[in-house]
Amino acid sequence: MKQNLSVMNRIAESYVRLVLSVGRHDSDYVDAFYGPPEWKTEVDEEKPPLETIRKRASAALAELRTVAPARLDEASRLRHAYLAKQLESMIARVNILSGNTMTFDDESRALYDAVAPTFPESHFKEILQELAPLLPGAGTVHERYEQFKRNFVIPKEKLDSVFTAAIHESRRRTREWIELPANESFTVEYVTGKSWSGYNWYKGESNSLIQVNTDLPIYIDRAVDLASHEGYPGHHVYNALLEKHLVRERKWLEFSVYALFSPQSLIAEGTANYGIEMAFPEAERVKFEREVLFPSAGLDPSKVELYYRVHGIFLNLAYAGNEAARKYLNGEIARDEAARWLTEYALMAPERAQQRTRFFDQYRSYVINYNLGQDLVKKYIESRGGTPQNPQKRWKEFQALLSTPRVPSALTRTSGEFFVRPKF
Ligand SMILES: [Zn+2]
Repeated sequence: MKQNLSVMNRIAESYVRLVLSVGRHDSDYVDAFYGPPEWKTEVDEEKPPLETIRKRASAALAELRTVAPARLDEASRLRHAYLAKQLESMIARVNILSGNTMTFDDESRALYDAVAPTFPESHFKEILQELAPLLPGAGTVHERYEQFKRNFVIPKEKLDSVFTAAIHESRRRTREWIELPANESFTVEYVTGKSWSGYNWYKGESNSLIQVNTDLPIYIDRAVDLASHEGYPGHHVYNALLEKHLVRERKWLEFSVYALFSPQSLIAEGTANYGIEMAFPEAERVKFEREVLFPSAGLDPSKVELYYRVHGIFLNLAYAGNEAARKYLNGEIARDEAARWLTEYALMAPERAQQRTRFFDQYRSYVINYNLGQDLVKKYIESRGGTPQNPQKRWKEFQALLSTPRVPSALTRTSGEFFVRPKF
């Protein structure tokens, strides 16, 4: 047993060095690193080529497989499964960087340990029909949706005060259920020229830099969504709990690095998205928006209910983005056609749809981590009794998920069945 643990620690160290090595070939790969700085210096001096990285990752994986999980305690078994999946994914990423191409679904399985369900166009058309009667004016649903949303943009000069109010509230709500490290903290920065709308850069020592992209208009729903997703109980809390429980308490240093294109991202994005409704159950959100955020943004509070009724239906279109990405990255449609699909079925304004296709170029099948991740996390937590009616259990399960190594395919053994007839 002891020997097994020292093998695992050695493999964990190799894993961290390998992630840092891939990061030299792929500037998006290392999302966070706060482990021993000399490991980074050594990797930068050695500059291992992709082929060397692939060989070392395969050797680490082979060695890991000599450790029988049955002989480990539960936490170490999860760690073992986690390291194996992360290494397999890394090898796939190295193969992609070496010029190996895969279909969208093969790539998401190899990198994120999950495959998103496929939906026909008719699925999205039905949702649009449900939305249509709520939107005034003439024209197509997406034109009317865009027109409708125009009244709900946060004015630029009010963005900081609105976002600050949202993040303080999401922090307050999260702290009611989760004990956060005493020194946890964050800073917010407003940036431009990015393919994403928000980003959390975890710095270690329970500190995050949260960036909000102001290239395009920011609608009022994004305040709570970004505050919860990037901050509380999303990415910032996830990283802070991993650091506290796994890196500091257990000395599992593989968690001091975060490989973006890896199964860990499905857990991260899934919990960050599910965390929005955890921190702000629907009725409480509407109340907070009406009493605080709408007035703070100078918007008409009498429109809150209608806005969130529309928003609720709009969220059911989430998989339209996956379909556009799948067809575009598989080479079945060109960029303009992908953008058109996003405008028609994901209701993105043309400019935002163009921005999103650039996100597809940069992050590829990563897109499934948001909506599939959210659905898998929801299913996992609620099937364990963590339903909205039982918030105590819900937060307990959520916190446990954020504080232990988990792999996507183990979240639900029944994902196949679950997605035959999705219910949203
Ligand atoms: Zn995210």
